[in-house]
Amino acid sequence: MRDCSRRCVYCAVPLALDVATLDHVYPVSHGGPHTPGNLVTACAPCNHLKGDMLPHEFFGRYPWAGANFVRYARAVHRALKRNARRAVSLAFAA
Ligand SMILES: [Zn+2]
Repeated sequence: MRDCSRRCVYCAVPLALDVATLDHVYPVSHGGPHTPGNLVTACAPCNHLKGDMLPHEFFGRYPWAGANFVRYARAVHRALKRNARRAVSLAFAA
């Protein structure tokens, strides 16, 4: 929680503990690990919106989510942030 600034890392809404959900950035269904470097706090609507999308698909479709992710998801793996940054800049360039 603290690592994500108590916000949904995708839409940046402040989250109370009882409504926060944990999202696997790289989905478990695609082989994502259950490690802290792959976990972020998200609100239920964003978690639902993302579903089983791979991070670059999600951030490509919703660049605002990627921009917030880069800003707020402090504890995730560097590779995930690097990929998010790339997906966002590609989405804005398109
Ligand atoms: Zn959200």
